[in-house]
Amino acid sequence: MKDIFCRIIEGEIPSNKVYEDDDVIAILDISQLTKGHTLVIPKEHYDNMLSCPKELLHKVIDVAQRIGQACVSVLGAKGVNILTNVNEIAGQSVPHFHVHVIPRYVAGEGGFQLTMKPQDISDLNLPMLAEEIKKEIK
Ligand code: 5GP
Repeated sequence: MKDIFCRIIEGEIPSNKVYEDDDVIAILDISQLTKGHTLVIPKEHYDNMLSCPKELLHKVIDVAQRIGQACVSVLGAKGVNILTNVNEIAGQSVPHFHVHVIPRYVAGEGGFQLTMKPQDISDLNLPMLAEEIKKEIK
């Protein structure tokens, strides 16, 4: 079964389009975490950012940057969160790669709170951990 973004891209389901070219569309998120919350989506289906080919990924990120800039200059956002969720455990609910552009106006405002609370790392060997990741990077 087609995911909801494939259906939006094919015009089966309406959306509020912010941007479109041959490879990428951007639409207002149906749940506006803050005013102007936009999703940048490659037209070709990839499940998430990790499986998206680099050239297409770069196009998506380029559009996300430009929408972030527009949110600052036109909507008066004071900042922007640009993020993507990979897989359900990380909060991904639609299995079609997309990047959220979330304009920020006032600290703590709206339905979006990003708090990063470090875990206890006393049992982690950071140099070994860095090596483990480093050797697997392709
Ligand atoms: P995720 O949780 O996968 O990172 O983000 C998926 C986003 O898609 C959610 O923020 C959700 O509000 C949005 N969304 C889900 N269905 C639709 C839809 O039919 N139209 C639009 N514009 N956004 C949708």
